[in-house]
Amino acid sequence: MSNQQTLIELNSIQKVFFTDEVETHALSNIELSINAGEYISISGPSGCGKSTLLSILGLLDTVTNGQYQLNGHQVASLNATQRARIRNKEVGFIFQSFNLISDLTVEENVALPLTYRDDFSSQDIDKAVKEALEKVDMAHRANHFPSQLSGGQQQRVAVARAIAGNPSIILADEPTGNLDSKNAEAVMSLLDELHREGATICMVTHDPRSAKRAQRLVEILDGKVIADNPIARGVQAA
Ligand code: ADP
Ligand code: MG
Repeated sequence: MSNQQTLIELNSIQKVFFTDEVETHALSNIELSINAGEYISISGPSGCGKSTLLSILGLLDTVTNGQYQLNGHQVASLNATQRARIRNKEVGFIFQSFNLISDLTVEENVALPLTYRDDFSSQDIDKAVKEALEKVDMAHRANHFPSQLSGGQQQRVAVARAIAGNPSIILADEPTGNLDSKNAEAVMSLLDELHREGATICMVTHDPRSAKRAQRLVEILDGKVIADNPIARGVQAA
């Protein structure tokens, strides 16, 4: 018997989008479990269902059929309010396009999700924001607005926002897709560091070299998992 704690369990997940007369079967029969502390990457061609899967994992979208258990919560049984509360507590989401709010400062962006938490006092929020910004080396830009930052800096702020609430899982959808190679490496190193410190990470990426930074690679094709394998260590790409 494994002594690792199962954090995420997906059983027979199906997602169908209905638009006009068209039915898109974005995900079919997805089975996936993720243990606490794992670092997983998800890859596959454009349109295969990666973002849909990550949105479901992050409680940003719901399934058409199947069971999703997140850290003991049966997601299907939650109403919209409960789902938002659990999302805010359990999930840190990092988007390809950063998704910072342009008229909030860096520290206000990082603080915003915490203001919806009933377990964070305003002092707790200040402390968590400061620590998260220090972690991503952006504390010196706390009072700047997103438009005053480079893309790499904005994504580091987005990482701070994702980790400030100490979520049980960090989900990243092509987190380096809009960055040059130097800034991409800075974000990837941050994810490595968070993982070493115990974070559970699930990252969608097109880039095979980024995918190999994880411990396990899940490959998707046409809405189905076609491979799910550990990544060999000690053959780090140069
Ligand atoms: P990927 O992230 O792997 O590129 P997506 O998960 O974005 O793929 O999309 C999977 C499939 O679902 C595609 O065919 C896409 O067009 C479709 N799809 C995604 N989101 C929606 C939506 N909101 N409405 C209709 N179809 C969608
Ligand atoms: Mg996508």
